[in-house]
Amino acid sequence: MRHILPLLVLALPFPAAAQPVLQLPADCSLGETCYIQNYVDTDPTEGAVDYACGVLSYDRHKGTDVALPSLAAMEAGVNVVASAAGLVRGVRDGMEDRVFTAESEAEIDGRDCGNGVVIRHEDGWETQYCHMKQGSVTVKAGDRVEAGAVLGQIGLSGRTQFPHVHLSVRYNDAVVDPFRPEAEPGQCGLAAGETLWSDPPAYQAGGLLSAGFAAAIPDYDAVKAGTAHSAEMSSTTPAIVVWAFGFGSRMGDILSMRITGPEGEIFATETELEKAQAQYFRAGGKRNRGALPPGTYTGDLTLTRDGKEISRIATEMTVR
Ligand SMILES: [Zn+2]
Repeated sequence: MRHILPLLVLALPFPAAAQPVLQLPADCSLGETCYIQNYVDTDPTEGAVDYACGVLSYDRHKGTDVALPSLAAMEAGVNVVASAAGLVRGVRDGMEDRVFTAESEAEIDGRDCGNGVVIRHEDGWETQYCHMKQGSVTVKAGDRVEAGAVLGQIGLSGRTQFPHVHLSVRYNDAVVDPFRPEAEPGQCGLAAGETLWSDPPAYQAGGLLSAGFAAAIPDYDAVKAGTAHSAEMSSTTPAIVVWAFGFGSRMGDILSMRITGPEGEIFATETELEKAQAQYFRAGGKRNRGALPPGTYTGDLTLTRDGKEISRIATEMTVR
């Protein structure tokens, strides 16, 4: 049977022994302090499909985006780390952290990656880390780094609208999806033993990222900044509103929002999400005509897809 082995090896696009084993490119906990907003686009046509045949990608996206739920989390500082050991081939720093708009396109001038690092691994493999925080890059070309070595911090530089690190993986300059390195169009999900990850991150097909209370429907910018939540409110607040920020919605998702006060439930609603969106926020609540009883108020937010709860988040506020 030994003669079968060379045939199998030839059938692979790259030699299995030379593949790097990758770890998450950020020092954060998926599902708790960070999440994956986008995967490599596996659809060769104009559409976008991630490796799990979900919608968490966009046309021609060439990497994996590990994102933070707010600008406040970015400002607090989350390290970008080397996914595997290698030699730093190049770095860029000095670009401003700002949300990408049509107006800033000229300024970015093709430097879509923003502040970033490229690491060369053995046998033609390379990883690239993008959108790092201005002034945070701690390595230079020629440095040898171990897996997990700090390269800088997650930022908002280059072509990006939310804080994240974009990880590109390449073999001989061709993009490789670390979740499905030997992609066959039309397949969905992980193939056993085939990913490049040492511990493949679980696929989360959308969910709730943050929630809070406010005295009025908050600005979306404040939600994304992480400053929209009021932990304390006056008993004579004009309104009591609960809000939720989520990613990866699909048409028909149901978001239920409930506010419970010291004397029981005071507000409950269910909203159907009308379309697939990379990010979204929703708010609901009621006017306050008298005085809210003092005490603790809880907001419970649940996201249901196809009859199954896929995400749940709670928030708290005190009326004094
Ligand atoms: Zn990306």
